Amino acid sequence: MNTPSGTFEAVPLEVLFPDAGVADLDRIRRSAHEIDGVQVAGKPQVWQWFPQHVTFPGRAEAGTPEVLLAEVSLHDEGGDWLEVSLDVEWTEEGLLVVWSGISVACWCEVDHNAHSIDPVGRTVVGTTSLADAFETSADRFVQWLAGPRDPEFWRSRASLPPREQERAPAVR
Ligand SMILES: [Zn+2]
Repeated sequence: MNTPSGTFEAVPLEVLFPDAGVADLDRIRRSAHEIDGVQVAGKPQVWQWFPQHVTFPGRAEAGTPEVLLAEVSLHDEGGDWLEVSLDVEWTEEGLLVVWSGISVACWCEVDHNAHSIDPVGRTVVGTTSLADAFETSADRFVQWLAGPRDPEFWRSRASLPPREQERAPAVR
């Protein structure tokens, strides 16, 4: 199945989140607007959504059941990369959770492929509404979009090994 995608205006919010009230959906739209406001060269964020996961599919399905997803590549060059994402998905318990994270390429001796740095996740439970959870993650997403785009900065911050220099520069 092809995953539908488009700008936030195209996201069928009412369909994806039938339990969310009008005020909550408005707050989510405002957060998405802020995300668009910090995009590279004014290009609006592209979102992907998963209508097959409007209701919790249970644990039988392989992988994480995502409902709504935004990803931005901040750096991708010579096998090194940095990426931020915001993700509304189901927990194993069938609760919605909104995640935001910045991931960086791994250059450890043992290849982990990627490292997620300071991920934020808020589960929609109790007094935490979907809008609360979305705003928290969207705020972080916006900070990451506006922050350093050098993967080395993030690896060093997380005390991860720096990228191997295959052809080290002669003098520094
Ligand atoms: Zn690693």
